[in-house]
Amino acid sequence: MGMFDPIKGFGVTFSTMFKKVVTEEYPEVKKIPAPRFHGRHQLNRHPDGLEKCVGCELCAWACPADAIFVEGGDNTEDARYSPGERYGRNYQINYLRCIGCGLCIEACPTRALTMTNEYETADDNRQDLIYTKEDLLAPLLPGMEQPPHPMRLGDDEQDYYVRGPELARQRGIPPDQTVESGHEEAAR
Ligand code: SF4
Ligand code: SF4
Repeated sequence: MGMFDPIKGFGVTFSTMFKKVVTEEYPEVKKIPAPRFHGRHQLNRHPDGLEKCVGCELCAWACPADAIFVEGGDNTEDARYSPGERYGRNYQINYLRCIGCGLCIEACPTRALTMTNEYETADDNRQDLIYTKEDLLAPLLPGMEQPPHPMRLGDDEQDYYVRGPELARQRGIPPDQTVESGHEEAAR
C-alpha cells in the first residue's frame, strides 16, 4: 500500500458525497411502475356489475406455475353472477407461486382477467398470499350493481360482447381489416 492510498480512498468517499443518491426511499415513497407492469390480477365486471369470468378454467390451464384454482358454477335465473350459463364460483390465485408472466390473461376468452399495476403483494404469512375471488374482483363502479342480479344489458349473453365490425368501428380500424375477437384487446 502506498503512502497516499488512504488519502485517495477518502477522496473517493468525498466525491461520492456530492453524487445523486440512487437509493429508493421505499416504502415511504412509492415507486410508480411502468403502465404495462404485471402486478396483482383483477377480475373484471361488465358495465352492469355482472362478472366477466365464466369459470372456463382456461387461465388455470395456461398457468405454468399452477398458481390458479377455478371452480365454475351454474347461473340460475334466481342467482345470476355473469351473463350466460356459467360463472367463476371459486377463484384463487396463489401469489407464492405466481411469476407474473401474464399467460393467464392472454388465455382468458372474456377479458375477465387482467393485471393491475399493484405490486405490494408481500406478506408475513402464506395464507394471506392466496388471494380469493373477493380479493380479486374489481370494485363496483357507479351504475354497477352487486351480483347476483338479472342481465341488464340485454336478454341475450351476446349483448355483452362486442365483436367484428363493431369492435373495429370503436377502434377506428378500417372495415377491410378483419377483427375476430377480443384477443387483440387483451394484447394491448
Ligand atoms: S401471471 Fe403467470 S404465473 Fe401468475 S397466475 Fe398468471 S399464468 Fe400463472
Ligand atoms: S378468468 Fe377468464 S380464463 Fe379464467 S376462468 Fe374466468 S373466464 Fe375463464
